[in-house]
Amino acid sequence: MKLVVNLKLLPTSEQSKALLETVERANTACNHLAALAWEQQVFGQYRLHKLAYYTIKATFNLTAQMAVRCIAKVADAYKLDRKVQRIFRPHGSIAYDDRILRFLKDDRVSLWTTGGRQVIPYACVERQRALLACRKGETDLVYRNGTFYLNVVCEVEEPPLLEATDVLGVDLGIVNIAADSDGETHSGGQVNGLRKRHARLRARLQSKGTKPARRLLRKRSGKENRFARDVNHCISKRLVAKAQRTKRAIALEFLQGIRSRMRVRRAQRRQQHSWSFFQLRAFIEYKAALTGVPVVLVDPHNTSRTCPVCGLVDKANRLSQAIFSCTSCGFAGQADVVAAGNIRVLGRALVNVPYVSPAPGGLGRDKLVALAISG
Ligand SMILES: [Zn+2]
Repeated sequence: MKLVVNLKLLPTSEQSKALLETVERANTACNHLAALAWEQQVFGQYRLHKLAYYTIKATFNLTAQMAVRCIAKVADAYKLDRKVQRIFRPHGSIAYDDRILRFLKDDRVSLWTTGGRQVIPYACVERQRALLACRKGETDLVYRNGTFYLNVVCEVEEPPLLEATDVLGVDLGIVNIAADSDGETHSGGQVNGLRKRHARLRARLQSKGTKPARRLLRKRSGKENRFARDVNHCISKRLVAKAQRTKRAIALEFLQGIRSRMRVRRAQRRQQHSWSFFQLRAFIEYKAALTGVPVVLVDPHNTSRTCPVCGLVDKANRLSQAIFSCTSCGFAGQADVVAAGNIRVLGRALVNVPYVSPAPGGLGRDKLVALAISG
């Protein structure tokens, strides 16, 4: 399995200048190449190389390998579409290979820049360090919001899939980031609280519109994203560990389902479109693959409106965002846990587990009323 490790570079201001100049020069070279390719209608990497390698290398004072990477970038772009001339953003990412980028000890990297080779430290956590041992192929240098990152491709060996004896259904949501079919919920309370605080701050700072205000905004937004990512790492780790420990596959909904079936209040809509759900999903899938836990995807169509006891499918079963209550048999429960139970049932059909017991997680009427009042 291919994973991309994202490392933040920690250059000095001198090195930062050199990196920026490198990115800009390489992209200028790519634009020059793209124009030439378009003019001559030469698009393949080999022919483009023959046509432009020496000129590009000399004109832009690039190292041989960087010239080759630029030619490859342009050829790749034309591979996708030859109907228009390709134009590259001045700060688009550029690719490095082992000849112009080398990982050193102590979280440092040595890479070619227009200002000569530079040794630059990077920020790295243990999880990433372990993955870097299986580095393979190219590394992209990315410039975003004034910061440089390396996107490193790592190829991790996947263990054989374990033989699942059951399925853990997982429902991804808003109020609870994830609920599973055992009835365990993983709360989004902390994350959502931080988001709300950030949204208020954003509104205030945006109305100010000054430069320091914008800088603070960017800093806050980075902090918020890092926090949400940590939460996603924790939740996905816990879910996958649980599935592995209990020899179960994990069932998730097809991606499209996440947005379409959520009817949410305006205040939540902001979070709904967040990348966070997609990230959590991706984390669950890759951690599962790394531990040999099978993942099955189920049709999300009726998971939130099907009664796990009598099987009635009805929109009205969903009393509110938080509460499921069957209009026919009266079964009631926490909506996301009921959905997770339904996901489990669908998932079991896919991994051929024969017997399906009723989904757990029902609360009973009394508790439900208490929940409705307090919530
Ligand atoms: Zn029912």
